[in-house]
Amino acid sequence: MQRIVHIIGAGLAGLAAAVTLAKRGERVTVHEATGFAGGRCRSYHDAALGMEIDNGNHLLLSANHAAAGFLRDIGAEGKLIGPQEAAFDFIDLASRERWTLRMNAGRVPWWIFSKAMRVPGTRAMDYLKLARLLSPPAGKPIGEVIACRGTLYERLVAPLLLAALNVAPAEGSATLASAIVRETLAAGGAACRPLIAREGLGRTLVEPALAFLKSRGAEVIFGHQLHALRFAQQQVAGLDFGTESLTLAPGDAVILAVPPYSASALIKELDAPNEFRAIVNAHFRIEPPAGAPPILGVLNATTEWIFAFPGRLSVTISAGDRLIDTPREELARALWAEVQAAIGLSATLPPWQIVRERRATFAATPAQDARRPGAATKWRNMFLAGDWTNTGLPATIEGAIRSGNRAAGLVA
Ligand SMILES: Cc1cc2nc3c(=O)[nH]c(=O)nc-3n(C[C@H](O)[C@H](O)[C@H](O)COP(=O)(O)OP(=O)(O)OC[C@H]3O[C@@H](n4cnc5c(N)ncnc54)[C@H](O)[C@@H]3O)c2cc1C
Repeated sequence: MQRIVHIIGAGLAGLAAAVTLAKRGERVTVHEATGFAGGRCRSYHDAALGMEIDNGNHLLLSANHAAAGFLRDIGAEGKLIGPQEAAFDFIDLASRERWTLRMNAGRVPWWIFSKAMRVPGTRAMDYLKLARLLSPPAGKPIGEVIACRGTLYERLVAPLLLAALNVAPAEGSATLASAIVRETLAAGGAACRPLIAREGLGRTLVEPALAFLKSRGAEVIFGHQLHALRFAQQQVAGLDFGTESLTLAPGDAVILAVPPYSASALIKELDAPNEFRAIVNAHFRIEPPAGAPPILGVLNATTEWIFAFPGRLSVTISAGDRLIDTPREELARALWAEVQAAIGLSATLPPWQIVRERRATFAATPAQDARRPGAATKWRNMFLAGDWTNTGLPATIEGAIRSGNRAAGLVA
């Protein structure tokens, strides 16, 4: 009898683990608590807008090699769309200045010596000071490693790190920031091309993964929440799903790919991140005007990024905990006024939706980073996956997929 690998959670970490194992010919069953796959990275039909939207705008970069590999595996290569070069449009809503940051493709950053390519108001010397982030002392916040002020910081470093870490940059982990800087900015423009799921996260990352799993005979069971794990002799012996419980056969294995708060409820002694940050998205049903950039960085505003999709403009605000209790309509009106100014629109408030993910990611501070466990556990047949495990990256799609691949590797 072939052993079964039970994967708990059909977020990207669980899906990546399942795809890697199914590709290897393993027998896989995925148990997902909700009625849908994708977890924090999903599309859904929104009744207020009358269209399918993503729970939040997700940006990837061409450096995200594990995500690229996942897409290749599930036959969705090419569904992440982006420009041929690393170019980022920005507007400063205080000064109304607009610029495009352009990075040359190679590792030698000659773009910092070009006034036309670098951030306006900065000098090449300013960028060299960022080298301190390449190998920071362990356990330090970013604010103790680089000066969190000045034009380069405000116009590039802060927006980049806020988006990547989802925490106020000065309190963010310098080690995690370092990983981002090394894999992206320091690797050259070829690693920094922005990529988005233009057809939606579901059609790009989730549905093709489910189709691939089906084609390999893997089973995905929805509405199947794991309530408890049964342990015996340093192994997981059984899975309790409430109304039904499952006894594992010798050789069977478990990959727990649930968020840290669910994992901690299932494993009492687990040390895991326990502080989170929100991400707020506002979606406006309107056709973006011709020439609107696909992604626009917005400074000196509540809005941080505006994404243009067919039929929709979407705003993203990271570490948006301060906005959790703002009345929805007040927030929609305030953000729409910023979108109008940034995109140059005069339309009145179109149909809108506000999506607030309270626990979008763990707080990427040094203290929380130190709480991230590895993939192996003291139980021989159980492994952990998820963006919150110790991937060396902040909570991202790339980190989630790498964690799933790693757990799948350990099962072998
Ligand atoms: C609004 C928003 C914007 C984001 N933007 C970006 C971005 O721009 N770029 C980027 O790279 N990342 C971004 N992220 C982060 C990214 O979405 C996550 O890092 C990634 O999706 C996490 O995947 P995961 O599989 O680790 O966890 P999850 O997606 O949380 O998946 C865990 C799954 O486990 C299930 N589950 C929980 N408990 C149980 C149980 N007991 N039994 C069975 N199933 C269970 C859950 O229902 C869920 O489906 C964003 C996140 C949010 C919320």
